[in-house]
Amino acid sequence: MMSIEQDLRQAIRTIPDYPKPGIMFRDISTLLGDPRAFRRAIDELVQPWAGTKIDKVAGIEARGFILGGAVAHQLSAGFVPIRKKGKLPYKTMRMAYSLEYGVDEMEIHIDAIAKGERIILVDDLIATGGTAEAAVKLLQNMGADIVAACFVIDLPELGGAKKIESLGVPVRTLVSFGGH
Ligand code: AMP
Repeated sequence: MMSIEQDLRQAIRTIPDYPKPGIMFRDISTLLGDPRAFRRAIDELVQPWAGTKIDKVAGIEARGFILGGAVAHQLSAGFVPIRKKGKLPYKTMRMAYSLEYGVDEMEIHIDAIAKGERIILVDDLIATGGTAEAAVKLLQNMGADIVAACFVIDLPELGGAKKIESLGVPVRTLVSFGGH
């Protein structure tokens, strides 16, 4: 059988110069559409936590919802959405984060997590880590015990995983790609 990394790598489609010149877009829609690859990715994300108590999985909009929902189901955990501002209907806590040009904000419902709950954060990809950092800060402000931040794809040259580990959160990724 192919190694997990090789297997998942083959299921991810790369689109050069999307959304703009110089960016290699790592498209997981091909992985999600392949029943065997999707299952393997979720099994691999879940594996370190099987048999441990995880209260909730927090997923980052939008691809983190798809992966995080499946991970939460497999761990019998709850699911908490972290969304772009203005989408959540109840009272929220907000955190700004920087994009390549300018800033944006992410939100979480103020009652989504109770102090001390064991949380796993999930998204499809970590690049600079700016998005995940904002999510980690939201969760930490709510008193979450963030057990790990998990991503299918790492772009290690952009340093995001190191940034998140410097906040005291272990990072787990399944496949690395060079470049941006
Ligand atoms: P960052 O905040 O720089 O770590 O960017 C991470 C977020 O942007 C994730 O939600 C990714 O889905 C998306 N993203 C950044 N770079 C790429 C890329 N090269 N291919 C696909 N998605 C990306």
